[in-house]
Amino acid sequence: MTRIRASCPVCGEVDLQPADVTLHLVRHGDEDVGDGSCYRFACPACLDVVTKPADERIAALLQTGGVEVELLGPDAGREPHPELPPGGPALTPDDLLDLHQLLERDDWFERLVALTP
Ligand SMILES: [Zn+2]
Repeated sequence: MTRIRASCPVCGEVDLQPADVTLHLVRHGDEDVGDGSCYRFACPACLDVVTKPADERIAALLQTGGVEVELLGPDAGREPHPELPPGGPALTPDDLLDLHQLLERDDWFERLVALTP
């Protein structure tokens, strides 16, 4: 079984199985391994997820070891927004005041539901 030696910032050198590691490759044009490429593993000792940059040499080594590869586009270096921003106009101080006054009423919930399309 191939073992991969990696280093955790907390624990130092740790031995991993290929299945513990994911290699993210970002392609820029013809390059196989562009900026933003990295590999990620959960440290077997402290269970922290460690992400390290991967250059061409590291990527080749990991792939030889049987590590799963995720191919990503050039925009992949940016983390996706965790949730879609809500639509509609921004909340204004007037809206907030309206909401505050609404919440002071006993029937605020019924009124709020009535406002929702
Ligand atoms: Zn660790």
